[in-house]
Amino acid sequence: MYDVAVIGAGINGCSVAYYLAQSGKKVALFDKEGIAHGGSGAAGAFISPKFSKAGELKELIEKSYLFSLDFYAKNFGQFLQQAPLLHIAKDEIDAKKLQAFKENTGLKIAQTPLHAKCPLGISNILTCKAQESENVYLLNGGVVDAVGVCHAMAQGIDFFQEEIDSLLWENDRYKVGSINAKHVVLACGAYEPILKEPYIKLRGIWGHRIDIYTSTRTEATMHHYVSLSKCSDGKMAVGATHNVHYHPQKNSEPYDVSLGREELLQKANMTIELKNVKILKDYTGLRSGSNDYLPIIGKMINASNPSSQPHFHPNLTMINGSGGYGFVLAPYIAKQLCDFIVEGREIESFLTPLRFYKRYLKGLTKPQ
Ligand SMILES: Cc1cc2nc3c(=O)[nH]c(=O)nc-3n(C[C@H](O)[C@H](O)[C@H](O)COP(=O)(O)OP(=O)(O)OC[C@H]3O[C@@H](n4cnc5c(N)ncnc54)[C@H](O)[C@@H]3O)c2cc1C
Repeated sequence: MYDVAVIGAGINGCSVAYYLAQSGKKVALFDKEGIAHGGSGAAGAFISPKFSKAGELKELIEKSYLFSLDFYAKNFGQFLQQAPLLHIAKDEIDAKKLQAFKENTGLKIAQTPLHAKCPLGISNILTCKAQESENVYLLNGGVVDAVGVCHAMAQGIDFFQEEIDSLLWENDRYKVGSINAKHVVLACGAYEPILKEPYIKLRGIWGHRIDIYTSTRTEATMHHYVSLSKCSDGKMAVGATHNVHYHPQKNSEPYDVSLGREELLQKANMTIELKNVKILKDYTGLRSGSNDYLPIIGKMINASNPSSQPHFHPNLTMINGSGGYGFVLAPYIAKQLCDFIVEGREIESFLTPLRFYKRYLKGLTKPQ
């Protein structure tokens, strides 16, 4: 018998499984396709804050950015490429957001090195662009090896490559595939939910990123029209696009990879001239986002008999809806979920499924 079965081995499932195993729990990790084969396997996994006006999401991502940089560096340092981070506004609206960000952030903003022979090692083109445009320079940023870190987190945990299509709660335990577990965590990303609850609405946003070889060298991670990783050895991660018009299950035509590459390289070259480019690998996938863009973590409510006194599914929790910040958020939110499962510690209320359940109830009681 397992203490916890985690379904979904993306960065969310792997982070929860990791923390639970560290707390001494016996964990079973399931994925129908393998470790990091969903959205997580596609991610550029840039670790950066959200450069926007104040708000719950910005605050959460800022906290998570500091937490996760420290977490990856301490526990999975070999999968983290640390580098300073330069964010350049792409238009007037973006510039205003950056100004508001600078006024409100608790992060330490450094002086952008703008002279030709600056430590960024970037070309004069960028120097001019960064000088002309509003920008933020932080000394701490980085990129995680998405697949590598998920595998490392899952090391030593029993892994089952199985698709779970239903959950059966009987005799105080769940039957999950071939095993039994006292608690289940659903970490299924943008896939068809195992348990459909009407108040949980998640949508998958398609994205494409590439790894390239280039003879251009840079010493910082840059975020502008797309994100570009530091490139000191010729290899650079470029990404990602957000394509709301394509969905692998809904579109009849296959995704046009060469058009996606063209878009990525065109956007990248608007930041810095990339010389002698060779495409090394394409990555595509769905990131799952919630209606209010905040992740959803915590106990799942059974809405089959809607009532203002929510009925919870026994020992069933979820972690999902991280949007484009899964690798930034996962260590921080998975820790909260683990502390809840192990010690019963409360999860921040603005993150739990209860917020959507309350809105769902209001909708049901509204006069027609
Ligand atoms: C192109 C792209 C670029 C991105 N770049 C960044 C970035 O730079 N920084 C960042 O922080 N985030 C980035 N993201 C977002 C990030 O990848 C996601 O937020 C994160 O991967 C979500 O992780 P997850 O574990 O929730 O979902 P997933 O990684 O999708 O994992 C869900 C897993 O559940 C499994 N599963 C589903 N249903 C079942 C079932 N019934 N039975 C068994 N297994 C099941 C799937 O096979 C899958 O492996 C990017 C995403 C994309 C697509």
